[in-house]
Amino acid sequence: MLRLDKYLADMQVGTRSEVKQMIRKGLVTVDGLIVKKPEEKVDCEKQVVVCSGAIVSYHQYEYYMLNKPAGVVSATEDPRDKTVIDLIEDRRRKDLFPAGRLDKDTEGLLLITNDGALAHDLLSPKKHVDKKYYAKIEGTVTEEDVELFGKGVDIGEKRVTLPAVLTILSSGEESEITLTIREGKFHQVKRMFEAVGKKVTYLKRLSMGSLVLDEKLLPGEYRKLTEQELTQLK
Ligand code: URA
Repeated sequence: MLRLDKYLADMQVGTRSEVKQMIRKGLVTVDGLIVKKPEEKVDCEKQVVVCSGAIVSYHQYEYYMLNKPAGVVSATEDPRDKTVIDLIEDRRRKDLFPAGRLDKDTEGLLLITNDGALAHDLLSPKKHVDKKYYAKIEGTVTEEDVELFGKGVDIGEKRVTLPAVLTILSSGEESEITLTIREGKFHQVKRMFEAVGKKVTYLKRLSMGSLVLDEKLLPGEYRKLTEQELTQLK
């Protein structure tokens, strides 16, 4: 149960004082009856709230799949740069955050949500959720690199990286690869290639656990997760 004014403010109908005024003016009905008390309690799951003729349904959690473009930062606020949250134009909740980080120049799959428990589970180092990346590499990626990445690479941390699956898609002066890692150390993919003397020139995340980037989403585009994607993630 939630106060009616909070219900409406949470769903961005207006500020808390704006929605209080709307309620007092008789613009809001609950189950078809005008309610004039902002403090009246509403059952978010069972009752139907209508404001100025439009149904306002309540979503405690929101889940968006974003194809992050290069040039925006994985943060909720930034004094200089556009953030991934700024890209979610039809967001309702004010408490959205990116579940994990991609570097400013990295593209690809980012889950934007306000579900802290789900994000925690996905990101917990103990859970070893697979993250798959596509990358372009300056230099020739070799079978030795594949073997080394499979065993673990020294990137200057206490321990070598956990076994990772490196697949060569093409190799030459510029190579194309996919890499699946089970941890999320700072700049991990770039540092793994640095450790073998190579440079990542383009990086895109393709998947995270069961969640796979929708190929239809262009960089900067997003959509809500489907029920099925959400159930698989939980
Ligand atoms: N590894 C990196 O180096 N950068 C990213 O953005 C993600 C993984």
